[in-house]
Amino acid sequence: MNSTRLFTLIFCGILTSTASFGAGIDLDYSRSSKRQYAEVKTFLVALAKAFPQNAKLFTLGDSDSGDKILGLQIGSGAINNLVVATHHGNEYGSTEVALGFARQIAENPVKDQTVFVIPVLNITGYNAKDRRESAKGTSFDPNRNYPGPCGTEGPFTLKSTAALAKFVADKNIVTSATLHTYSPAVVYPWGISTHDLTTGYESIFKGLVADATRESHYATGNSTEVIYPADGTYEDYAFQTHGIWSILFELGYSHHPSPDEVKTAVQVNVPGIRRMLESAPMQRAEKHTFAGKCDTSLVSLDRHDE
Ligand SMILES: [Zn+2]
Repeated sequence: MNSTRLFTLIFCGILTSTASFGAGIDLDYSRSSKRQYAEVKTFLVALAKAFPQNAKLFTLGDSDSGDKILGLQIGSGAINNLVVATHHGNEYGSTEVALGFARQIAENPVKDQTVFVIPVLNITGYNAKDRRESAKGTSFDPNRNYPGPCGTEGPFTLKSTAALAKFVADKNIVTSATLHTYSPAVVYPWGISTHDLTTGYESIFKGLVADATRESHYATGNSTEVIYPADGTYEDYAFQTHGIWSILFELGYSHHPSPDEVKTAVQVNVPGIRRMLESAPMQRAEKHTFAGKCDTSLVSLDRHDE
């Protein structure tokens, strides 16, 4: 190789890396199942640095791990929306989709919205690849840790869930996507132990889940019917307490997706999450208090595996 050719290669390499905002903001899916929270934080810092006009780091609050729960605030629109992943620490596929989504909207924010992305809520669980979160010498299922009209395993015995509840109230979050693995399905309230499943907003919710699944072709519908009843979940809490348009994503086909399966989950879900946020109402639902009857005989149907 002559020296001119070598120089051209090096120079073009520098240009290319500058144009793509440098290394560290493209996900290496071979790392998906091995990442620790420190690596997630490094990725968020790199994204904020690469797109300073659109994205900045924020702290949700302390977690029982002793670490801070971090997220990215992306865009500057007047409507505040939320994407939160990894209530369950073993569901790393949900973390990757949240990171892929943050990467996409950091480059191209959602118009008229500020979207808060929290890729990992349950830090001890994520580091240990454990569904539950450790606190006070024991552990809890974070997505049964919110108050609910038909019961809870909490409420708020974890700093993470208390911090998220305070956050959605303080920020006036209007629409929320909570990301889990795996069914695959995208569903809406009520997801609790009841036969009275309608909220009165079925046509809006059906539109949102249809928008969310145009690429993925996942199953859609009411949470209890498509998955199973579960009391004390974030998604029902957000709707019941605030009227937040609250959608639960069960992503992919496994709790142990391969790098290729993670990549596919990101590719087929990121456009849908974005479209759902773009088409969601600009204000919270007005009537959001559960008025039905709880049926405690349904509690045993909660498998605690999604
Ligand atoms: Zn889950």
